[in-house]
Amino acid sequence: MSLSNGRHYLAIPGPSVMPDRVLQAMHRPAPNIYRGALVEMVESIVPDLKTVAGTTQHVAMYICNGHGAWEAALTNMLSRGDKVLVLGTGRFGLGWGDMARVLGAECEVLDFGMRSDVDIDRVTETLAADTEHKIKAVLVVQVDTATSVKNDIQALRAALDEAGHPALLCTDNIACLGCDEYHMDDWGVDLMVAGCQKGLMTPPGMAFVYFNDKADAARETANMVTPYWDWRPRVDPDYFYRYFCGTAPTHHLYGLREALTMIVHEEGLEQVWRRHSVLTEAIWSALEVWGQPGPVRPNIAERDKRSHAVTTVNFGPGNGLRLREWMESDYGVTLGIPLEGMDAPDDYLRIGHMGHVNAHMVMGVLAGLQAGMAALQIPHGATGLEAAMKVISEAA
Ligand SMILES: *Cc1c(COP(=O)(O)O)cnc(C)c1O
Repeated sequence: MSLSNGRHYLAIPGPSVMPDRVLQAMHRPAPNIYRGALVEMVESIVPDLKTVAGTTQHVAMYICNGHGAWEAALTNMLSRGDKVLVLGTGRFGLGWGDMARVLGAECEVLDFGMRSDVDIDRVTETLAADTEHKIKAVLVVQVDTATSVKNDIQALRAALDEAGHPALLCTDNIACLGCDEYHMDDWGVDLMVAGCQKGLMTPPGMAFVYFNDKADAARETANMVTPYWDWRPRVDPDYFYRYFCGTAPTHHLYGLREALTMIVHEEGLEQVWRRHSVLTEAIWSALEVWGQPGPVRPNIAERDKRSHAVTTVNFGPGNGLRLREWMESDYGVTLGIPLEGMDAPDDYLRIGHMGHVNAHMVMGVLAGLQAGMAALQIPHGATGLEAAMKVISEAA
């Protein structure tokens, strides 16, 4: 018998759950896009976007998804023939590199596979070998949403500094901004891309390119720049219409304003990170117990290399697919599919836990997984839920 009727929970790694307040803020007639409330509101969004990223530098806003932000970032800093170093730790890091290649950059790819983070030693070697400083930019994801690995961005900065290498350090934080701790300026990141539909709890449709003055200096000579993606008018528009190179995404802006109020001014960014951290620990604790007499294991072995926004799990042969189907049809929760590149895709599923997620939502997913494993006769340690509850009760 299916028990899935009731409010369905989409627990995939983006788009994430949108707070009712965000949706309600968007439910309004069209505002004037030339003066008045909307114009003032956008002025207030910019500093909050910077707070979330830990930067006092620049942020350009675009009407697009994360892929659009990738293209915006690349075209503003690169010229055709420029070399970029692509650090692959899953589908997304490699995807950003693929886009750079199609745009006309020369890509050197270091692929670390689907189960580990960037090996800093290999990056150090590659930078040292580049004595002529042909590499203009290093592209890396902080969190790869396919594998749920989290890369050490500070270690990459240190590697660049030790090599005395001037390449721009560019991070993709589309999955994890507002979930995993991040400090763009303190960590010495030159450029960062983010989207609104994951940690920022807003419907897909806006994305952001953050950049510092060093990246902006590259924009001076970049010959890939096109008028629409050019970041300069977007950070310093001579009139409001130019912020978005045309009509503003009016309703998205109202939604985003509300989401940023919740993150920055109400809960507070540190507390948002802490909430994600505790909820993720609860998930990991359940996985650890479930895996003791059975096939269940997190895709990334070491805890400090795992994201707090998404968790990729191997449930054993064919069981990722079976559990996802059971959760959706019988339990009322949709989990994330495995992405391209996993060795045996049907073994995996992904749990999204980014943004507007609290303890009962995470416990609901875990209870469903444990019930599903029992129903489908997937061997597992029986006290996974208790282990998760212990994390919640000790933190609360
Ligand atoms: C979701 C995601 C993307 C792609 O974003 P879209 O909005 O789907 O274009 C890129 N990188 C990472 C790390 C992501 O999580």
